[in-house]
Amino acid sequence: MDRKLIDESKKYLMNTYNRAPIVLRKGRGMKVWDSTGKEYLDFVGGIAVNCLGHCHPKVVIALQKQAQRLIHVSNLYHIEPQIKLARLLVENSFADKAFFCNSGAEAIEGAIKLARKYAKDHVSPQKYEFITAYGSFHGRTLAALTATGQERFHKGFEPLVPGFKYVPYNDIEAIRKALTENTCAIMLEPIQGEGGIKMPSEDYFKQVREICNENKLLLILDEIQTGMGRTGKLFAYEHFNIEPDIMALAKGLAGGFPIGAILAKDAVAAAFQPGTHASTFGGNPLACAASVATIETLLEDGFLLDHCRRIGKYFKDNLEKLKRDFPSYIAEVRGLGLLLGMELTKTCGPIVESCSGRGILINCTSGNVLRFTPALIVAEKEIDYLIDTLEDIFGR
Ligand SMILES: *Cc1c(COP(=O)(O)O)cnc(C)c1O
Repeated sequence: MDRKLIDESKKYLMNTYNRAPIVLRKGRGMKVWDSTGKEYLDFVGGIAVNCLGHCHPKVVIALQKQAQRLIHVSNLYHIEPQIKLARLLVENSFADKAFFCNSGAEAIEGAIKLARKYAKDHVSPQKYEFITAYGSFHGRTLAALTATGQERFHKGFEPLVPGFKYVPYNDIEAIRKALTENTCAIMLEPIQGEGGIKMPSEDYFKQVREICNENKLLLILDEIQTGMGRTGKLFAYEHFNIEPDIMALAKGLAGGFPIGAILAKDAVAAAFQPGTHASTFGGNPLACAASVATIETLLEDGFLLDHCRRIGKYFKDNLEKLKRDFPSYIAEVRGLGLLLGMELTKTCGPIVESCSGRGILINCTSGNVLRFTPALIVAEKEIDYLIDTLEDIFGR
């Protein structure tokens, strides 16, 4: 443990995170090393951010080249990597247009503004209300926080932003009941990530899409965690045979570099005109160059997406086996691709600590759900090592 650095960290940084007593210094692929030289296998992946692993050469080179050419110019001018990235996203999704920002919360804020503007312009001036789900997570800025259907995140920050209603996830009737003449959009995660890897039921999104069509509502998907190949498809909505009207992206979009995006169909995107929305750093040359390199690598031969589906199933099967062996510790295994959760019957803090002692980084969400979001390049033998370690820890 690097006592001196950790003390300084506590002295100079606001106390917003329950950080592990580890100072990470270097990473390559699935591995990271701390400041004492200890090696870890990283099953957190920056919380579903480092989709290609740490310091992927394609991303590193793209950043180096772009840093030498141009780092920032503002959106007063056209930016080559930004145009290239928008084209890549449009060609590989439901969308016709992209807007770039710097984080997930910023993408959600933009999506909320875009939906309200579109609804007021094209449906009715009184449309402003959003329906979101309990257990959701949409970010920490005030509107994104309000959209987040978990009271524990709201406490102390009231008054919240007006115009949000919550319904239980996976409950179609609850959505129908929550509709009013003021509703403008429904915003959901394809799989609830932060909320504990909660899966939608078979027909849920098809039915949500129908409700939106019948009532002239926009469907906003928050794919900040599920997007960029995480579930074995480039975007999770592809599993449900539906398309959203607006999608928010961030996390893995640039393989570790900060970026966010709002994607939309032309008719909806047109609600934004010069002066309605903007971001100084949004779509900045460095972030976009890293993102182009990330997406090109993800889509190359479809290899990584295939790998993610196959290895994700292998991972989940092994977690299920662990559950059969330790039914009193493990309540449920959930997830798709490499967005996997294992709900424990107790808090998971001690397990996370034991794993890190043995050189494996894992994450805990919602208090008792171990969340696994490794790089999409994770290998079978690395999963075997994690499973053996967990087996040993549960066995004691
Ligand atoms: C992480 C996350 C966010 C917030 O993203 P930030 O970049 O932390 O603002 C929003 N929605 C979902 C689904 C997320 O997983």
